[in-house]
Amino acid sequence: MRIIDHFIAGGSASGGSRQGDVFDPNSGQVQAKVSLGTQAELEKAVAAARAAQPAWAATNPQRRARVMFKFKELVEKNMDELAHLLSSEHGKVIADAKGDIQRGLEVIEFACGIPHVLKGEYTQGAGPGIDVWSMRQPIGIGAGITPFNFPAMIPLWMSGVALACGNAFIIKPSERDPSVPVRLAELFKEAGLPDGVLSVVHGDKEMVDAILDHPDIAAVSFVGSSDIAHYVYQRGVAAGKRVQAMGGAKNHGIVMPDADLDQVVNDLAGAAFGSAGERCMALPVVVPVGEDTADRLRQKLIPAIEALRVGVSTDAEAHYGPVVTAAHKAKIENYIQMGIDEGAELVVDGRGFKLQGHEEGFFVGPTLFDRVTTDMTTYKEEIFGPVLQIVRAKDFEEAVALPSKHQYGNGVAIFTRNGHAAREFAARVNVGMVGVNVPIPVPVAYHTFGGWKRSAFGDTNQHGMEGVKFWTRIKTVTGRWPDGGADGSSAFVIPTMG
Ligand code: NAD
Repeated sequence: MRIIDHFIAGGSASGGSRQGDVFDPNSGQVQAKVSLGTQAELEKAVAAARAAQPAWAATNPQRRARVMFKFKELVEKNMDELAHLLSSEHGKVIADAKGDIQRGLEVIEFACGIPHVLKGEYTQGAGPGIDVWSMRQPIGIGAGITPFNFPAMIPLWMSGVALACGNAFIIKPSERDPSVPVRLAELFKEAGLPDGVLSVVHGDKEMVDAILDHPDIAAVSFVGSSDIAHYVYQRGVAAGKRVQAMGGAKNHGIVMPDADLDQVVNDLAGAAFGSAGERCMALPVVVPVGEDTADRLRQKLIPAIEALRVGVSTDAEAHYGPVVTAAHKAKIENYIQMGIDEGAELVVDGRGFKLQGHEEGFFVGPTLFDRVTTDMTTYKEEIFGPVLQIVRAKDFEEAVALPSKHQYGNGVAIFTRNGHAAREFAARVNVGMVGVNVPIPVPVAYHTFGGWKRSAFGDTNQHGMEGVKFWTRIKTVTGRWPDGGADGSSAFVIPTMG
């Protein structure tokens, strides 16, 4: 059986006390084993990073940017191969796998502009003969711990900016679909990134804990579920690191009575069921405002959901493929049963879905619930599957309150033709990323990505200038060149600029 090994110091490296199963979600079969690393593998990656980072940091930013340009070219050249690899482990359809890679590449495009971004600030004549300038310096060695659902985009969110800023970087990908980050590291090497600057170590909690405790790793970026994000944040900060930890989500889509319902249904189909709902920016909760809006929306949603095509991830006609593992499929189906038990109305039932010829695949049919209420566990928790819940709101105020009071605050959307309502909503809602007639409001790479409340711990977002801030430290220099040299005076009071 194929073994997926670590990528350390520019090459493949075996090692680890255990192995994990990597499934083909289409067939339900184990297709490879991944080495689950230990402290020993991490030490090798850290040693390689320590050796390589000073020269990489001293490489001028334009040259570092050239590696990014070249890497982008190589990923584009290898797009088909990467998308198939990604899809074969994750289960998302090929077109969506390409989107996953493309969104990551957009961060690389941002990183190509690093010479401009790192210019720093300068004040000439802050005092007599005194100039002040600030520079952004790399933090040293950074690490990224990533989830299964975006195996290309999220490692690239982190590594693209961290590397461009002059850091060495260690990726610990999800053990459920670990191959793409290794391929990306190989392509970085081909693009000219010196060996040791980027490593990929595989593993589970044991490796995560080793990263969090390692004294030479200065900063950790995590994306995954909220309980683990919180744990990572606390343990990393306790070890003296800079930590940003993005967590789970339960994004709401508010539908105002004046919205174009045909467009809303199209948007919801993609946003709730695309990638089998395994997106932190999926839209699993729809909030029609007013009973009449709810009834009209429900009527249009049912046939649209029933028409969705679930297929193997290589089926070009499929709207979505299998979920990632059998355990995840069982978890989603348990939530569906819980929804029924809690008193929600099951309108379309996706349980027990079997795809002919792929009966053992991890498929879940599209599911719709109506009359979901805020006291239900299935409303409070993230399901992370192809399940859409209708929560009816009586008016705009109630609709703003729902996502605002929810424990998660990643994304939210409003569908309306009323500019005032949209503007009010965007200003007042207690959520980090807002879409106005945009169902999946993932910000472009040169803005920043990050939720609020239990969707993110730490105060710095991913990519854009927030990413640059996270992966650098600012140093401010105050310099004085008195005319004719030292003036021989001493200052015993705190110096001011007069
Ligand atoms: P997960 O929390 O199970 O795993 C994320 C990472 O944590 C993996 O690398 C995993 O190996 C590691 N991990 C797992 N258990 C651990 C433990 N007990 N201790 C330490 N580390 C552990 O998440 P997932 O299932 O891979 O991804 C889906 C989750 O990620 C969803 O909750 C989704 O909303 C969230 N997500 C959030 C964002 C965001 O930006 N907010 C983006 C994508 C995904």
